[in-house]
Amino acid sequence: MAFLNRSRSISIAAGLAAVAAFVNVAVATNSWGGYHWARTTSTFTLKLGNNLSPGWQQHLSDASSDWNSPLSFGATSTPLVTAIVAGQSSKRCTMVAGTTQVCNSTYGNNGWLGLASINITGGVHITQGSAKMNDTYFNTSTYNNVNEKRHVMCQEIAHTFGLDHQSTNGSSQNTCMDYFSNTGANATSTLSTRPNKHDFDELNLIYAHLDSTTTVAQTSSLSSKADIDVTDDPNSWGKLVSQSTNGRSATYERYNENGSKTVSHVYWAIEAAAKCPSCDHRYDGGH
Ligand SMILES: [Zn+2]
Ligand SMILES: [Zn+2]
Repeated sequence: MAFLNRSRSISIAAGLAAVAAFVNVAVATNSWGGYHWARTTSTFTLKLGNNLSPGWQQHLSDASSDWNSPLSFGATSTPLVTAIVAGQSSKRCTMVAGTTQVCNSTYGNNGWLGLASINITGGVHITQGSAKMNDTYFNTSTYNNVNEKRHVMCQEIAHTFGLDHQSTNGSSQNTCMDYFSNTGANATSTLSTRPNKHDFDELNLIYAHLDSTTTVAQTSSLSSKADIDVTDDPNSWGKLVSQSTNGRSATYERYNENGSKTVSHVYWAIEAAAKCPSCDHRYDGGH
C-alpha cells in the first residue's frame, strides 16, 4: 500500500466497500416480507406453545435449542430466543396472541406437510403465529424419518420468526430454510435439518431496530376478538400470492376485517407438487 498514491488507495477502499455491501445484500435474502415481532428490547423471547404428541417432542426441543445457539452455526448472536411453554391450543392450532403455537395432527390428504401462519398488524408486525405438521404424510414411510421431521419442524417455527427460505429449488444450502428433501435416498442425510449462519445474520438484520411497542407480551386471544386465524379449511388461507417453480413452496395472504393480514407459508408434499407444479394445490385434487 505504501507504493500506491492516495487516490488509488481510496478507489481500492471504495471497491472493497462496494464488495462488502454486495456480500451483505446477497447474504440477507431470507426475510419473510420484513415481517417481525414488535419489541422494545434488542433481544427477546418468543414463546413456542407445545401442543405436540410424544413423537414430535424431541424435534421441537432440538429445533428450539438450535435456534437459540448461534455460536454452534458460526454466528455471533441472535436477537430471538425461543422458549417452549405449555401449549394453549389444540391440534387445530388456534393462534394465541404473543406466541407461536406448535401442533401436529393427521390433518388429512390435503397435500401439505407443514403449514406456518402469522397474523400481521401495521403492515409488518407479527402478533401471533402457528406452525403445524401434518401426520397424514409424516406417518407414511416416505416422510416418517427423523431428518425430514426435524427439517420441517425447524423451518415452520422459523417462518413465525419472520424468516423466509434461502432456496426453494430442492438443493441443500444446509439450512432447514431450504427445500432439500430428507426422503428416499436422502432419508439418512442430516443436511438441511438445522439453521445455518445466514439465518442468524438475517435475524440480526430483521431485528436490528427497536419498536416503541411490543407484540410478544401476551395480552389476550386476538383470534377470539376477530376472525383473523386460519382454520382447517385451506380456503381460509386467502389468495395464492407466490409459488416456487417446482410447486413445493407457496405463500397465501388474507386481509381481515380488523385491518390485519394473515399470511401462510405452505410446504407441499412431493406428490402434491409433482402433479402440476404451477397449480394452486388446494384445488388440483387427488393427493
Ligand atoms: Zn418493527
Ligand atoms: Zn416454508
